[in-house]
Amino acid sequence: MKNYSKFNVPFLLGLIISILFLSCETQDFESNEEQNLYDNFMLEQAFPDETGELLRITLDGDEVDVESINKHYILEGDIKIMLSDNNKSVGRIGGRWPNNTVYYSIQSGLTNQARITNAIAHWESKTALRFVQRTNQANYVYFRSGSGCSSYVGRIGGRQDITLANGCSTGNTIHEIGHAIGLWHEQSRKDRDQYIKVLFENIQSGKEFNFRTYQEQGQDGNEYTSSLDLGSIMMYGSYAFSKNGQPTIVRTNGNTYNAQRNGLSNSDVIGINKMYPPVTSGNTVELRGNNGKYVSSENGSKPMNCNRTTAQGWEKFQVITLSGGKVALKGSNGKYVSSENGNKPITCNRTQIGSWEQFTLVSRGGNTYALRGNNGKYISSENGLQSMTCNRTAIGNWEEFVISGL
Ligand SMILES: [Zn+2]
Repeated sequence: MKNYSKFNVPFLLGLIISILFLSCETQDFESNEEQNLYDNFMLEQAFPDETGELLRITLDGDEVDVESINKHYILEGDIKIMLSDNNKSVGRIGGRWPNNTVYYSIQSGLTNQARITNAIAHWESKTALRFVQRTNQANYVYFRSGSGCSSYVGRIGGRQDITLANGCSTGNTIHEIGHAIGLWHEQSRKDRDQYIKVLFENIQSGKEFNFRTYQEQGQDGNEYTSSLDLGSIMMYGSYAFSKNGQPTIVRTNGNTYNAQRNGLSNSDVIGINKMYPPVTSGNTVELRGNNGKYVSSENGSKPMNCNRTTAQGWEKFQVITLSGGKVALKGSNGKYVSSENGNKPITCNRTQIGSWEQFTLVSRGGNTYALRGNNGKYISSENGLQSMTCNRTAIGNWEEFVISGL
């Protein structure tokens, strides 16, 4: 049974938690075959082989269960909590990295550093966050070896470690970086009971606290997407911390689901863009096709066209500079141009920048460019004869645009 130590009140007053460190790996580190049947990826956990003493502490006026391991307080398996005198906000509201910039360094000799550079490249390709190698910055992420995969939640000030045991994959690293920039586990949403059922009877003894919402844990936070996303890279799998091979999380209809650790989901990207909004260059541009006509947003009310003889309101776009050399285009209706992934004509009706709203400008000399969507295809003017698409594999005349004002 749980063994709670109760702190006395004066001690509690001095114990104000400023930082959360999430560790994210399971006990199946030693390639436990049975466990692999349940989960096709490794659940992140800070100290996979250890179970700490459970403590109940008061945090922001609420009692919270934490696990004390190696002098760290561990929440949700891979979230580390530090205790300090300052009551900083934690989790998904506080602890942001200024200017969308995360400084980092890597422990020399750390195994398989490509998983870190690949994870960073993934983040930069999907979001407005940039990751810059630290020179002398005070606040930075330090990737180092450790017994599991773990990270603090949000920027905590000073050096903050992301630990990566040899078994931690690129996907695990993407997940840990998610914590470091301020993401909770997806199942910690306070509205999660609308989407999932947590089966506490199947959870390993002592690990139940991993399945509490951030609110139940007394942490501050917010939901930056409209609903729980089972495909989020921050979502635990159905069999996380199972003690008996039975699921610990199921859909509300009782069915299990597959979690993933391949990369950020579209919903992840939407939430992150709210937390770290892309920077607006402020430049307003016009795009003229090789038919001599201008691209129109059609005010978002129908698919876009390249058939306007003059550039007025609907033919003006604001360029939003994203990381990784990508841009988004915002029409005068305040909405973003979407590639629609090449599946249907492009539109200017999106309120958020997700993957489909990101384009790479491919220089064709002078101020002529092609625009490549994240589907790898190019936007075509269709010579102004029909609605524009983003489904061309090569750049021909109809895929070139003169962009004035960049
Ligand atoms: Zn985690």
